[in-house]
Formats: sequence, C-alpha cells, structure tokens
Amino acid sequence: MSNVLVVGGAGYIGSHACLALREAGHEVVVYDNFSTGHREAVLGGVLIDGDVRDSEKLKEALRNYRVSVVMHFAALISVEESVSNPIAYYEANVEGTLSLLSAMVDVGVEVMVFSSTAAVYGKPDYSPMLEDHPTRPLNAYGESKLAIERAFPHYERAYGLRISKLRYFNASGADPEGRLGEAHYPETHLIPRAFNAVLGGPPLEIFGENYSTPDGTCLRDFVHVTDLADAHVRVLRRLQDGGDSDVYNVGTGSAYSVREVIQMVEKVTGQEVPTIISPRRIGDPSSLLAASDRIQNELGWTPAHSNLQEIVESAWRWHQTGWHVGATGDTG
Ligand code: UDP
Repeated sequence: MSNVLVVGGAGYIGSHACLALREAGHEVVVYDNFSTGHREAVLGGVLIDGDVRDSEKLKEALRNYRVSVVMHFAALISVEESVSNPIAYYEANVEGTLSLLSAMVDVGVEVMVFSSTAAVYGKPDYSPMLEDHPTRPLNAYGESKLAIERAFPHYERAYGLRISKLRYFNASGADPEGRLGEAHYPETHLIPRAFNAVLGGPPLEIFGENYSTPDGTCLRDFVHVTDLADAHVRVLRRLQDGGDSDVYNVGTGSAYSVREVIQMVEKVTGQEVPTIISPRRIGDPSSLLAASDRIQNELGWTPAHSNLQEIVESAWRWHQTGWHVGATGDTG
C-alpha cells in the first residue's frame, strides 16, 4: 500500500476519499489550507497546513512522507462565484494545480488522480454524455478545470506523469456512518440549502422554472460522495497497476429535477421545504447527465449508494448533527 498525498483532503469529497483510502490500507497525508476545508474533517493520518500554490511546501511534504501518489481535490467549486470572481478560480484551480505538478516533477512523483467536473462539458449535445462529448464550459469554474485538464497531456509526455481525471456530476450525500458530510460556507448546493430552509433558514430559491425540462427546473445527476470516494480508490489502483492516464465520468445516468429533489427532501424530513422562484443562475446548464459506462466496465465501479433517497437520508442524518454549523473553516 502507498503513502498518498491528499491535497484538499479536509474538504467535502477529499475527506470522504481519505476514509476510503485508509479503509483500503493506504497511508494518508492530508495537505489543506483550510480556506474551505475543516480540521474536524481530518479523521486520521498526517495533517499538513499548507497552500497548494506553495510548491516548496508541497515538495517538502512529498519528500518527508515518501509519497508515491497524489490525489488533488483542492479547488474552488461554486459556479456562481466563478462568474463574478474568475481571478480567484484561475488562481486556485489553474495556478494551484500547476504548482502541485511542478512539485511532483521536481520530486519525481508520477501519479495523480485529479478532481474534475461535468461543468467542463457545458450544454449537452446529447444525453447522457460520454467522456468524449465536446467540452464547452458555460462558466469560469468549468473553464478553469478544463484549462488544467488540457495541460496534463503535455506534462505526461514531457515528464512521464500519469494523471487520471474524474469528472464528477453532482456530488451529494454524506458518509453512511455519519462521520463526515457536506459543509460549505456559504452553502451553495441544492440539498443542504433545502435542509437549511426546512430548519428555519431563508426559503430555498429555485433558480429558474422555465427550462425546457419536464417540470421546468434543471436536471442533475446526483452521485453519492461515498461512491465518488470509491471511484478514486479504484482509479488510483489502476494507475498503480501500470494503467495509462484516463478520464472517467462519475455519475449514475439517472437525472432528477430540482423539484424532484425538493420532494425527496420533504419525504425524508417529513417537513415542507419553503421555496421561492428566482431567476436562472448564470452559468447553469439545464441538464447534466453522465454516461459512466467506462468506469463501470473498466474498473467495476457501481453507484451503489447513489439512489436519491439514500443520498438525501444520509445527508439529512449528518446535517441534523449540526456539525456543519460549528466546524472551523471559511466563513464566507
Ligand atoms: N439550485 C437551486 N437552488 C439552490 C441551489 C441550487 O435551484 O439554492 C439548483 C441549481 O440551479 C442547479 C441544481 O440546483 O440546477 C444543482 O445545483 P448545485 O449548486 O447543487 O450543483 P451544481 O449543479 O451547480 O454543481
């Protein structure tokens, strides 16, 4: 088993991946600057407080802990914020990853699993989308992830790196044992926002109800964070077994509308979700649906926990602990 540097390991998906890595027998070194991650989400292994743009600190971490593989989760992820503040998105997502790549090249670490996103595709030409669907991002978040994806083949050819990219659809849910969950400040994601509305926060804004979808609200492919974590462990194993760089969609192939998600939140919580209709959010595609046959066929991955009820139930169990309110990290 290996020593894995998990950059952004204190964040939502990164922390769940750390659990899965440790359960698979790997040693985990979490590297995070806690700008959006939480110390409470680091449940074991080594913890280094550092910024991904600090290449020297990364090199030190790679050397000191004899790291052989890297998982890179550290990124800014809000579509809306990326539209108003692209500088922050290019700096964190492009510059940050270039800094990590430089450190890896200098130290001689050749394998990385990279967090990418369905936002690289933009408006679907067909649905569900395969990995070779054209990439035309609708926002700076998707553009920043695509820009760095496009740098990878050059680094691979020149420096012998192998980097596999996971394009996530809508990461959601929480660790089934309740150890971890989602906590963003401010929270932008649909399911936790719906919980906040149930718990007396502001009503949930439905961003657009005039899309050309069956009920007029956007369609999304929700994948359980535990399934995403499992996908990372499988992709890592493939690379360690000598597999080539690749790109994998990670989703379920089933789409739910914003209204259907709200109905599920009402069923699980037993309470009405107060809603208001708001204008469309800039940069939102009407539908995002994954064809994830590649990861299923090649790596035996299945979206085992990704039915909507299990996603909402696990997220609700965790949300009710109040952990997300008290945790440290970015406050806005
Ligand atoms: N959404 C919404 N109200 C909210 C948050 C999200 O209507 O308060 C919608 C959003 O427009 C999108 C879907 O829910 O169609 C999923 O958004 P989220 O931010 O959870 O994930 P994204 O698809 O941006 O990755």
